[in-house]
Order: sequence, then structure tokens, then C-alpha cells
Amino acid sequence: MKAILVIADGMADVPLKALKGRTPLEAAEVPSLDEIAKKGICGLVDVIGPGIPPGSDTAHLALLGYDLIESYTGRGALEAIGSGVDILPNDLAFRCNFATVDADFIVLDRRAGRITSEEAATLTAAIQESIKMNPPEVGDILFTNTVQHRAILRLSGPKLSAFVSDTDPHRTGQKVLQAHALDENPEAEHTANVLNTLTLQLHDALTDHPVNKRRASNGLPVANAVLFRGVGTLPELDPLSLLYGIHPAAIAAVPLVKGVCKAAGMRLINVEGGNGTYETETKAKAQAAITSLQRFDFVLVHVKATDLASHDRNPQKKIQMIEKVDVLVAYLLQHIDSEDVFLAVTADHTTSSVKGEHSGEPVPLAISGPNVRRDDVGEFGERPCGRGGLGRIRGVDLMPILMNLLGKAEKAGS
Ligand SMILES: [Zn+2]
Repeated sequence: MKAILVIADGMADVPLKALKGRTPLEAAEVPSLDEIAKKGICGLVDVIGPGIPPGSDTAHLALLGYDLIESYTGRGALEAIGSGVDILPNDLAFRCNFATVDADFIVLDRRAGRITSEEAATLTAAIQESIKMNPPEVGDILFTNTVQHRAILRLSGPKLSAFVSDTDPHRTGQKVLQAHALDENPEAEHTANVLNTLTLQLHDALTDHPVNKRRASNGLPVANAVLFRGVGTLPELDPLSLLYGIHPAAIAAVPLVKGVCKAAGMRLINVEGGNGTYETETKAKAQAAITSLQRFDFVLVHVKATDLASHDRNPQKKIQMIEKVDVLVAYLLQHIDSEDVFLAVTADHTTSSVKGEHSGEPVPLAISGPNVRRDDVGEFGERPCGRGGLGRIRGVDLMPILMNLLGKAEKAGS
């Protein structure tokens, strides 16, 4: 027995006036999602807990069955390993943004006008050179850009601590923050000093760089500062293969979700055209999932852009993206052996198109497959799934439920 778990990021929503009181999922045409609901069993999932808006990192950890208190060690390291940066157990990883600041370090643009990846790579080379000439007091330091304005900072060494605050003020019009220690240890103080020194040093390395001169002359925001946030260390997760006896793979485009899956011991499958944007090729992802089933018995397929549309407060775009998820599911339904493969569909959290943010309402779930105990739900959505046979479960309940269906659950007691 095998299973495919489709997670559409932030697919769940709230009823919207513009959609006559329906959610985007209820307003979308999703015959294949409806088919899973009709053939299978449905429910609502409080991914972290009732009323708690999850982050995408914690949400995926919970849906993969991990206890957050034991497993969550910050976003930075997950995103770093998802970007292909090597992180060892004692390393600190920060998420970084190239940003635009004025002479007083007031942030004018947190993303430096979404600078191109090519420009960011050239600036990164200058930063690396500056660090080499004038290394901060840490054992080892790595700065690398990823996509557009995003970058990763890795610090390694004996005198470091993850108990430091961000330098990113998280909004424009405010000054770049001084990092400070969040506990009494000298290591935290030292780490904060390293970040504050780097803030000044990188500003010097970037200010008169030819890339920025060119941007300025073209009227574009310059990338003259780097903001640090989301420090994390590598989580110590028991791999899914050990926990459940499965051989798992994941198809995802965004570094954070890739990082969570990698930390959980899932093999990452790269899909050309599956890129985490509105243009993502969901059918290519579905094809890759079907091919992967030959080698793996548990395949997670993640689609990001449903969430982007809600952050953009664009319900029509969200409907379009949900319908693209339906295309993915249609392909899966056509190509799986329904006597051998379970299909589960859910979201990692609700993203409210009203607030443009993650929200604490539960998400719908439907599971179809051989001998699934069917309920009376006939369509996939926030409301109908609330009447389903699974009732209301927590995110960490999903894996045990799927493993029971796959025949991988261990008996409790004798
Ligand atoms: Zn998410």
C-alpha cells in the first residue's frame, strides 16, 4: 500500500463578501477534489491547535507527525537546508534579506526592489570578499544568496547561541534593529555583537558597489544593507522511515517546505516548472508524483501559490490556483491504482484573503483509497468537510491515520 499526500499551502480561507459568503475553495470548480471527498472520508484539521495560526514550517512538521515543542528549532536552518546549504547540528542559520536603507539605517525597502538573483549573486561575491578580508570572530562564516533578495547566513563556532533577536524591523520606515542577547549567556551577547558588526561591515561593502550604482542610476532601490532574522538550528528529527517504516519522498519548490521534508528524512524530487509561483506546473508535479510511486511508498506533493494569492488578498487568483491544484489531483486520480494507493488532500493552514495573513481556522481534509470508511460528504470544502467522518483532528493525528490505512500502524498494547 502507498499514499500520496497533497498539501496546498494556505488553501483554506474564510467566507468572503466578494464571493457571496463562500470561501475561494467553495467557489472554485474542483471536480477531482470533490471526487476524493465523495469516495473517501473527510474532516477538519486544527494543524497546530484550535485557533492557532500556524507558520508553514510548524504546520508541515505537525502534519508529518512531529511534536513541535520537541522538534521546532527555528525557521532559519530549515530554509537553509531546503536551499541546499549544509547545516551541522551546532551551526546557526539566519534568513537574510538584501534591503534598502538610508544614511541613518532607516529601512526604505525590505526587499531592495526584489533585486534579481543575478545582481544578488554579484553583491554576494563582494560580501564574501569583505568577510574574507575582515572575518568576524566566529569559527566559520558563510553568506550565500538564494532567490532574488533572499540569502542565508551560517555561523559556526564554539561561542555562539541562537538566543539572539533579529536585526530586521519587519517594516519599512523603521531603523535596522540592534541584535541583542535573549538570555544571560555570554555566547548570546557575542552572537549579537557579530550580527551588529556584520550589519555595518556589509553596508560598507555594498554601498558603492557597481551593481548599486547602476540600480541607482536606473531609479531602482539599491541593495545596500542585509537584514538578519529567523535564527534557527538544525532540528533533531527521527526520520519518517524510522518512525513509520515508510520510504518517503517530497515534491516541493519553496526552500522552507523542502527543508522540513529533508529534516524529516524525505528524498526531495525536483520538478522542472514546479516553481512555487502562480505559473507553477501542477500537472508536472502530478506526473513526478506518479513516477515517484515506483520507488517510494509515501509521496508528499506541496503547492505554494494558493497561499500567495491570499497574501495578495486576491480571491480570484486563489480560485484559479485551487483549480490548478484540482488539475494535479485529476491527474493523480487517473493514474493511480485505486486499489493500492491512498490519496489525501489538505492545506497546511488557513490564509485569510481578508487579513492577507495566516489564520487559526481549521483546514479541510479528505482521504480516499481502498477500504476507507466512507462518509456522506459529497464535496471538498471548509463547510462540507466539517460534517465528515474524521470529525475534527489535530495536525499530528494525520500521519497515524494514514499509517493505519497503509497497514503500518503499531498496535498499542498486546
Ligand atoms: Zn503555508
